[in-house]
Amino acid sequence: MKGERKTPPAIKGTQDILPPYVKKWQKAETEAKGLFELYGYKEIRTPVFEPTELFQKGTGPTSDIVTKEMYTFVDKGGRSLTLRPEYTPSVVRAIIEHRLYLQPEPLRFYFIGPMFRYDKPQKGRYRQFHQVNIEVFNEKDSAIDAEIVEMADILLHKLGVSDIEVLVNSVGCKKCRPSYHQELKSKAQAQKELLCEDCQRKIETNPLRIFDCKKETCREVSQEFPKIIDFLCSECKEHFEKFCSYLDSYQIPFRVEPRLVRGLDYYTKTTFEIVSSRLGSQDAVLGGGRYDDMMTEFGGPDICGIGFAMGMERLLSVMPYRAEKDQFLYIVYLGEEAKKEGMELVRELRREGVPCLIEYKDKSLKNQMSRANKLEATWTLIIGEEEVKSGEYSLKNMESGVQEKVGREGIREAVKGR
Ligand code: ATP
Ligand code: MG
Repeated sequence: MKGERKTPPAIKGTQDILPPYVKKWQKAETEAKGLFELYGYKEIRTPVFEPTELFQKGTGPTSDIVTKEMYTFVDKGGRSLTLRPEYTPSVVRAIIEHRLYLQPEPLRFYFIGPMFRYDKPQKGRYRQFHQVNIEVFNEKDSAIDAEIVEMADILLHKLGVSDIEVLVNSVGCKKCRPSYHQELKSKAQAQKELLCEDCQRKIETNPLRIFDCKKETCREVSQEFPKIIDFLCSECKEHFEKFCSYLDSYQIPFRVEPRLVRGLDYYTKTTFEIVSSRLGSQDAVLGGGRYDDMMTEFGGPDICGIGFAMGMERLLSVMPYRAEKDQFLYIVYLGEEAKKEGMELVRELRREGVPCLIEYKDKSLKNQMSRANKLEATWTLIIGEEEVKSGEYSLKNMESGVQEKVGREGIREAVKGR
């Protein structure tokens, strides 16, 4: 129609999270925060955008994220900025900037918030998605690697997520990885024509990333490639063996998955993922690993790090949830005096923590009663002229249908008894 103004819909790959579904988000977030605090983690919040170089460096110039997926823009001051595609580089930057390593508190952080990646939108893959992240710094012992996996496992169980599998691997270190790299390169070179174009390029730039490819043929070919686990130096081998033995003592079943690699130099030793068989092709609920050399790479002190990132959307799609009904008192009033009385009453009750709803539409009693019904109020309180005079109100329990005359104290007793 001419002159009609249309609001553009939300951008592809982004989602509105509406009530009541948002309650499921809140439940997962609350459980996660509560659990992390039990393990000594503290919340940290950093900006949504950062200088583009931070991610080029922290996420790696050859990674999918940096080469294809970043939301980068130039601001009015001519600076290149990027909406964060992942969290670790920001945390490392903040630790260095505020010299948090000089404080006595353990460097254990958690964070929940949106991430942005220009990926192909599909089930389990969005352009704005949300992550729950945790990071620990300055803990070299593989006991922390196991404790992190244990914490993730507990969280998923607490949230009722079943059919999960823990996958682990080690990517070695600066000492042992180069010889593996050589071996991998030559094997990949020999089978070059079987790999996709992308992977052919990766042979030269970053052969480990071939394992990341989602294409079936590349996956099959890479199955036969040498495994990094057979190339570990004694230090990395011991770290991995101990990590596995700690997982055993926690009685957490796991499988060694040679495909779990990270293509960046500062990723070291442990990598892990928790996958769900209910997720289909995007099956990782969370992924994590150790990055002992990242802090020094960023010009900070020689402090090791490890962490994981869990995708909220993927978590929620496998998390069972039955919404509990909201309990609240609905005020029905008739006339100005009753309205004032109602306003005063809800103010008092809300202060005491009783959820109340009063709507100011001055409708008829019948209309208001049917509103209360539709909204499935737990109780309805009727205030008319009579009630204002006597100070006694009609309180209706909407479930049982029982109606009684009560004073203010009586309301309290009735609603707090629940
Ligand atoms: P994938 O192999 O699925 O692309 P990734 O290696 O890019 O995962 P990470 O960077 O390790 O993933 O992110 C950790 C978690 O964040 C993933 O396990 C997943 O649950 C979630 N995640 C990553 N990218 C997306 C996305 N585009 N949409 C929704 N969730 C995502
Ligand atoms: Mg990805």
